[in-house]
Amino acid sequence: MESRANIAVSLSTEEPDDGRELFKGKWLQYCEQEILHALAEAGGQPVLLPDLRDEELIVRGLELCDGLLLTGGSDVSPMVYGEEPLREVWRGDHARDLYELALVHEALREGLPVLGVCRGCQLLNVAFGGTLFQDIAAQVEGSLCHRDAVRYDAMRHEIEISEPSALARILGSGKREVNSVHHQAIKDLGKGLRAVAFASDGMIEAVEAEEGFILGIQWHPEWLPGARGLDEVFEAFVASCQSRAARA
Ligand code: MN
Repeated sequence: MESRANIAVSLSTEEPDDGRELFKGKWLQYCEQEILHALAEAGGQPVLLPDLRDEELIVRGLELCDGLLLTGGSDVSPMVYGEEPLREVWRGDHARDLYELALVHEALREGLPVLGVCRGCQLLNVAFGGTLFQDIAAQVEGSLCHRDAVRYDAMRHEIEISEPSALARILGSGKREVNSVHHQAIKDLGKGLRAVAFASDGMIEAVEAEEGFILGIQWHPEWLPGARGLDEVFEAFVASCQSRAARA
Protein backbone atom coordinates (compact mmCIF):
# COMPACT_ATOMS: atom_id res chain seq x y z
CA MET A 1 0.00 0.00 0.00
CA GLU A 2 1.18 3.52 -0.76
CA SER A 3 2.48 5.38 2.26
CA ARG A 4 0.36 8.24 3.45
CA ALA A 5 0.87 10.75 6.23
CA ASN A 6 -1.62 10.30 9.09
CA ILE A 7 -3.27 13.62 9.70
CA ALA A 8 -5.02 14.29 13.00
CA VAL A 9 -8.33 16.08 12.42
CA SER A 10 -10.04 17.96 15.26
CA LEU A 11 -13.79 17.52 15.65
CA SER A 12 -16.81 19.75 16.19
CA THR A 13 -19.18 19.16 19.06
CA GLU A 14 -22.93 19.45 19.14
CA GLU A 15 -24.92 19.81 22.33
CA PRO A 16 -27.67 17.35 23.30
CA ASP A 17 -30.92 18.10 21.48
CA ASP A 18 -34.15 16.42 22.59
CA GLY A 19 -35.76 17.36 19.28
CA ARG A 20 -33.36 15.14 17.35
CA GLU A 21 -34.59 11.73 16.32
CA LEU A 22 -31.14 10.15 16.18
CA PHE A 23 -28.91 10.36 19.26
CA LYS A 24 -31.66 12.23 21.04
CA GLY A 25 -30.29 14.07 24.07
CA LYS A 26 -26.70 12.98 23.36
CA TRP A 27 -23.51 14.96 22.79
CA LEU A 28 -22.11 14.50 19.30
CA GLN A 29 -18.62 14.88 17.87
CA TYR A 30 -18.46 15.14 14.12
CA CYS A 31 -16.62 16.47 11.11
CA GLU A 32 -17.86 18.06 7.91
CA GLN A 33 -17.18 15.76 4.95
CA GLU A 34 -15.58 17.95 2.25
CA ILE A 35 -12.49 18.70 4.29
CA LEU A 36 -11.87 14.98 4.88
CA HIS A 37 -12.20 14.25 1.17
CA ALA A 38 -9.93 17.19 0.33
CA LEU A 39 -7.24 15.88 2.70
CA ALA A 40 -7.52 12.37 1.26
CA GLU A 41 -7.37 13.70 -2.32
CA ALA A 42 -4.26 15.68 -1.37
CA GLY A 43 -2.66 12.33 -0.40
CA GLY A 44 -3.24 12.31 3.35
CA GLN A 45 -4.91 9.76 5.63
CA PRO A 46 -7.31 11.69 7.88
CA VAL A 47 -7.41 10.39 11.46
CA LEU A 48 -10.28 11.79 13.54
CA LEU A 49 -9.12 12.56 17.06
CA PRO A 50 -12.07 13.04 19.43
CA ASP A 51 -12.16 15.13 22.58
CA LEU A 52 -11.91 12.53 25.36
CA ARG A 53 -11.53 15.17 28.08
CA ASP A 54 -8.08 13.74 28.82
CA GLU A 55 -4.78 15.37 27.83
CA GLU A 56 -2.89 12.10 28.01
CA LEU A 57 -5.14 10.62 25.33
CA ILE A 58 -4.54 13.71 23.19
CA VAL A 59 -0.80 13.09 23.42
CA ARG A 60 -1.29 9.39 22.60
CA GLY A 61 -3.56 10.21 19.68
CA LEU A 62 -1.13 12.70 18.20
CA GLU A 63 1.70 10.17 18.53
CA LEU A 64 -0.04 8.23 15.77
CA CYS A 65 -0.02 11.26 13.49
CA ASP A 66 2.33 13.28 11.31
CA GLY A 67 0.39 16.54 11.32
CA LEU A 68 -2.63 18.34 12.76
CA LEU A 69 -5.59 19.90 10.97
CA LEU A 70 -7.77 22.26 13.01
CA THR A 71 -11.20 22.35 11.39
CA GLY A 72 -13.82 25.09 11.27
CA GLY A 73 -17.03 25.34 13.26
CA SER A 74 -18.31 27.11 16.33
CA ASP A 75 -16.93 30.37 17.74
CA VAL A 76 -13.82 30.43 19.89
CA SER A 77 -14.78 31.43 23.43
CA PRO A 78 -13.56 34.92 24.41
CA MET A 79 -12.67 33.38 27.81
CA VAL A 80 -9.57 31.75 26.28
CA TYR A 81 -8.08 35.15 25.45
CA GLY A 82 -9.16 36.89 28.62
CA GLU A 83 -12.42 38.56 27.55
CA GLU A 84 -16.06 38.18 28.51
CA PRO A 85 -18.53 37.53 25.68
CA LEU A 86 -20.01 40.85 24.49
CA ARG A 87 -23.22 38.95 23.74
CA GLU A 88 -24.42 35.60 25.03
CA VAL A 89 -24.55 34.18 21.47
CA TRP A 90 -20.80 34.83 21.13
CA ARG A 91 -19.86 32.76 24.19
CA GLY A 92 -18.35 30.11 21.86
CA ASP A 93 -17.44 26.51 22.63
CA HIS A 94 -15.01 26.68 25.54
CA ALA A 95 -14.68 22.90 25.96
CA ARG A 96 -13.71 22.56 22.31
CA ASP A 97 -11.18 25.39 22.69
CA LEU A 98 -9.43 23.59 25.56
CA TYR A 99 -9.27 20.32 23.62
CA GLU A 100 -7.92 21.99 20.47
CA LEU A 101 -5.45 24.17 22.42
CA ALA A 102 -4.07 20.99 24.00
CA LEU A 103 -3.77 19.49 20.50
CA VAL A 104 -1.93 22.56 19.16
CA HIS A 105 0.47 22.80 22.09
CA GLU A 106 1.34 19.11 21.81
CA ALA A 107 1.73 19.34 18.02
CA LEU A 108 4.06 22.34 18.40
CA ARG A 109 6.07 20.51 21.07
CA GLU A 110 6.47 17.59 18.67
CA GLY A 111 7.29 19.81 15.71
CA LEU A 112 4.30 18.57 13.67
CA PRO A 113 2.94 20.60 10.77
CA VAL A 114 -0.31 22.38 11.73
CA LEU A 115 -2.98 23.75 9.39
CA GLY A 116 -5.90 25.75 10.80
CA VAL A 117 -8.96 26.41 8.64
CA CYS A 118 -11.34 29.27 9.57
CA ARG A 119 -12.01 28.71 13.28
CA GLY A 120 -8.74 26.74 13.21
CA CYS A 121 -6.87 29.86 12.06
CA GLN A 122 -8.37 31.85 14.94
CA LEU A 123 -7.63 29.08 17.44
CA LEU A 124 -4.03 28.94 16.24
CA ASN A 125 -3.70 32.68 16.86
CA VAL A 126 -5.09 32.25 20.39
CA ALA A 127 -2.66 29.34 21.00
CA PHE A 128 0.17 31.80 20.25
CA GLY A 129 -1.27 34.32 22.73
CA GLY A 130 -3.34 36.42 20.32
CA THR A 131 -6.90 37.74 20.56
CA LEU A 132 -9.98 37.86 18.31
CA PHE A 133 -12.76 40.17 17.29
CA GLN A 134 -15.85 38.50 18.80
CA ASP A 135 -17.88 39.84 15.89
CA ILE A 136 -16.35 41.72 12.97
CA ALA A 137 -19.48 43.70 12.05
CA ALA A 138 -20.06 44.85 15.64
CA GLN A 139 -16.44 45.73 16.39
CA VAL A 140 -14.87 46.95 13.16
CA GLU A 141 -16.38 50.00 11.54
CA GLY A 142 -16.50 49.91 7.75
CA SER A 143 -15.66 46.20 7.60
CA LEU A 144 -16.52 44.05 4.58
CA CYS A 145 -19.16 41.36 4.75
CA HIS A 146 -17.26 38.25 5.87
CA ARG A 147 -20.29 36.01 6.46
CA ASP A 148 -23.66 35.93 4.82
CA ALA A 149 -26.21 33.43 6.12
CA VAL A 150 -27.89 33.04 2.71
CA ARG A 151 -24.84 32.98 0.42
CA TYR A 152 -22.88 30.98 3.02
CA ASP A 153 -19.88 29.40 1.25
CA ALA A 154 -20.72 31.24 -1.98
CA MET A 155 -19.83 34.50 -0.17
CA ARG A 156 -16.56 35.75 -1.69
CA HIS A 157 -14.07 38.56 -1.30
CA GLU A 158 -10.55 39.30 -2.45
CA ILE A 159 -7.45 38.80 -0.36
CA GLU A 160 -3.92 40.04 -0.91
CA ILE A 161 -1.12 37.61 -0.07
CA SER A 162 2.10 39.22 1.15
CA GLU A 163 5.59 38.32 0.15
CA PRO A 164 7.90 36.82 1.23
CA SER A 165 5.82 34.15 2.96
CA ALA A 166 5.28 30.41 2.92
CA LEU A 167 1.73 31.10 1.75
CA ALA A 168 3.02 33.11 -1.23
CA ARG A 169 5.32 30.21 -2.11
CA ILE A 170 2.25 27.93 -2.14
CA LEU A 171 -0.36 30.17 -3.79
CA GLY A 172 1.68 33.01 -5.27
CA SER A 173 1.64 36.57 -3.99
CA GLY A 174 -0.88 39.25 -4.85
CA LYS A 175 -4.65 39.07 -5.12
CA ARG A 176 -6.84 35.94 -4.97
CA GLU A 177 -10.53 35.49 -4.45
CA VAL A 178 -11.56 33.34 -1.47
CA ASN A 179 -14.79 32.35 0.22
CA SER A 180 -15.61 33.90 3.57
CA VAL A 181 -17.77 32.14 6.16
CA HIS A 182 -16.60 33.75 9.40
CA HIS A 183 -17.89 36.51 11.69
CA GLN A 184 -14.90 36.44 14.04
CA ALA A 185 -11.37 37.37 13.02
CA ILE A 186 -7.91 37.93 14.41
CA LYS A 187 -7.53 41.14 16.43
CA ASP A 188 -4.09 41.08 18.11
CA LEU A 189 -1.63 38.77 16.44
CA GLY A 190 -0.12 35.98 18.54
CA LYS A 191 3.60 36.26 19.37
CA GLY A 192 5.62 34.30 16.83
CA LEU A 193 2.99 34.52 14.10
CA ARG A 194 2.87 36.92 11.21
CA ALA A 195 -0.07 37.99 9.09
CA VAL A 196 0.48 36.99 5.46
CA ALA A 197 -2.89 37.70 3.81
CA PHE A 198 -5.37 40.53 4.25
CA ALA A 199 -8.85 41.42 3.03
CA SER A 200 -9.34 44.96 1.66
CA ASP A 201 -10.78 46.08 5.03
CA GLY A 202 -7.54 45.10 6.74
CA MET A 203 -8.88 41.88 8.29
CA ILE A 204 -6.18 39.24 8.65
CA GLU A 205 -7.00 36.29 6.38
CA ALA A 206 -3.91 34.12 6.96
CA VAL A 207 -1.13 33.71 9.52
CA GLU A 208 2.00 31.61 9.66
CA ALA A 209 4.89 30.94 12.03
CA GLU A 210 8.51 31.69 11.16
CA GLU A 211 9.56 28.06 11.52
CA GLY A 212 8.00 24.86 10.21
CA PHE A 213 4.63 24.45 8.51
CA ILE A 214 2.32 26.32 10.89
CA LEU A 215 -0.38 27.99 8.81
CA GLY A 216 -3.83 29.40 9.52
CA ILE A 217 -6.18 30.40 6.71
CA GLN A 218 -9.47 32.15 7.25
CA TRP A 219 -11.18 30.70 4.15
CA HIS A 220 -12.34 27.15 3.31
CA PRO A 221 -10.42 25.77 0.31
CA GLU A 222 -12.46 22.55 0.56
CA TRP A 223 -15.63 24.47 -0.35
CA LEU A 224 -14.29 26.25 -3.39
CA PRO A 225 -15.76 24.94 -6.64
CA GLY A 226 -14.03 23.51 -9.68
CA ALA A 227 -11.05 21.31 -8.98
CA ARG A 228 -11.45 22.40 -5.35
CA GLY A 229 -9.66 25.68 -6.19
CA LEU A 230 -6.86 26.79 -3.90
CA ASP A 231 -6.36 23.17 -2.84
CA GLU A 232 -2.65 23.81 -3.17
CA VAL A 233 -2.77 24.62 0.55
CA PHE A 234 -3.91 21.08 1.40
CA GLU A 235 -1.34 19.61 -0.98
CA ALA A 236 1.50 21.63 0.57
CA PHE A 237 0.31 20.71 4.08
CA VAL A 238 0.09 16.99 3.29
CA ALA A 239 3.52 17.09 1.61
CA SER A 240 4.95 18.69 4.75
CA CYS A 241 3.31 15.99 6.91
CA GLN A 242 4.75 13.34 4.60
CA SER A 243 8.30 14.62 4.91
CA ARG A 244 7.86 14.81 8.66
CA ALA A 245 6.68 11.14 8.61
CA ALA A 246 9.73 10.17 6.55
CA ARG A 247 12.05 11.86 9.08
CA ALA A 248 10.42 10.34 12.16
MN1 MN B 1 -13.09 36.84 5.13
